[in-house]
Amino acid sequence: MNAIEPLIAAGAIEQALARIREVVGEAGWLDAAQDIEPYLIESRGLYRGDTRLVVRPASTEEVAQVVSICADAGIKVIPQGGNTGLCGAGVPPEATPNIVLSMGRMKRVRNIDPDNFTLTVDAGCVLADIQEIAERHDRLFPLSLGAQGSCQIGGNLSTNAGGVQVLRYGNARELTLGVEVVLSDGRVLDSLRLLRKDNTGYDLKHLFIGAEGTLGIITAATLKLYPKPVGHSTAIFALPTLDAVIDLLSRARTMTADLLTAFEFMPRFGVEIAARHVEGVRDPLASPSPWYVLLEMSTSAHGTGLDSVMEALFSAAMEAGSVSDGVIATTEQQRQAFWKIREGVVEAQKGEGASLKYDVSVPVTSIPLFVTAAIDACRRISPEVRPLAFGHVGDGNVHFNLTAPVGDDGAFAATAATFDEIVFDLVAGMKGSISAEHGIGRTKKQALARYKSAVELDVMRRIKAALDPHMLFNPDKVLMPPGQASV
Ligand code: ZN
Repeated sequence: MNAIEPLIAAGAIEQALARIREVVGEAGWLDAAQDIEPYLIESRGLYRGDTRLVVRPASTEEVAQVVSICADAGIKVIPQGGNTGLCGAGVPPEATPNIVLSMGRMKRVRNIDPDNFTLTVDAGCVLADIQEIAERHDRLFPLSLGAQGSCQIGGNLSTNAGGVQVLRYGNARELTLGVEVVLSDGRVLDSLRLLRKDNTGYDLKHLFIGAEGTLGIITAATLKLYPKPVGHSTAIFALPTLDAVIDLLSRARTMTADLLTAFEFMPRFGVEIAARHVEGVRDPLASPSPWYVLLEMSTSAHGTGLDSVMEALFSAAMEAGSVSDGVIATTEQQRQAFWKIREGVVEAQKGEGASLKYDVSVPVTSIPLFVTAAIDACRRISPEVRPLAFGHVGDGNVHFNLTAPVGDDGAFAATAATFDEIVFDLVAGMKGSISAEHGIGRTKKQALARYKSAVELDVMRRIKAALDPHMLFNPDKVLMPPGQASV
């Protein structure tokens, strides 16, 4: 390389950044250290990157122009939504030149058609706002998760977000009819069609959903809406074993005519720490039980007695020995209190020291075997480790977490690699997934390289090369860079 080349390149980059500032105007960029700080860090402090410019475009046209300028100058583009991801996909790399493309100013509702049960929005719309818009039109947008007050729909789609209603409505992928995407050459791919049936060749939207911003920038989406539920029945049941949890799930799905919206399981340890650390959380039942399930049914039909369906389910499960106790919410306040326990399990972990978190899935019927085998194997490494398996059991999704032994001096976190291998090997052996709903990002790219088949990885790399030949978008996320691919 000629010594003068980097200087020329540096000049070209400054020029490109100046043009980007022009395209988005005064309100569309940040570069002061204190302003860009929140865009550089991962929400739990796991990663910290660097960037030359945080760009906040106001329209798809601006995104397209910014991407074109970056493509010409070789500046990497890191798309970022609400920055609530759990695998570091939205955090810029340490290496610059890159820009963070923050979608938060793109908040337009482009179209709502309640009779077609569709809503088209810009990628920067916050999930909770979308839920509210749907509700104002007597509709439901069912995607529901902990970060909904700040996560954005573009990020939800890019990570194919799951959450607590997947059992009934599916994850983000199933809730999307079309996307608008800016491609790596600056062209706009528009598949924002209000159609539920469209078999005209490859369904391109699915390439970008779950791609974590590595194939294109999602700038808008057409979403499916549903009738708004007017009746709920919410209960917490106590169960003696994990096999009983699976029996109850099967029974519930059969007996409730698929009105089951959520089916979340928690161990005793989870309920205990939620009650200990989260204000307002109380033990739901008089005596402790090894396992608990929070079930919710919902319907948009008026005058249906869902509580009587829940009672019939309880009696049948009780008779079969699957359930030992239970309580059905009689007021909205009580329903909220039940959900607070479930949410409290997540929140309370911080109060118990370090924890390792695995977001995995296995076939539903394999959950008891997986959880038992994983707990046994982890206890062989660390007898005092405190396992916490909970989550969306109805979808086969287990949040298998390990809380450090009481009095841990920091040694526990250092053993992560050993536990990773134990948990992921077990999951792989059951043909499960090492990332059920959180994605790959930076955190799991090595694991992906190890556990995904060679053919699957090859096809993924070919798709990346076809859509982003110059590795412009979100480099070094999801897939390992070529050359480091075999781990
Ligand atoms: Zn979850």
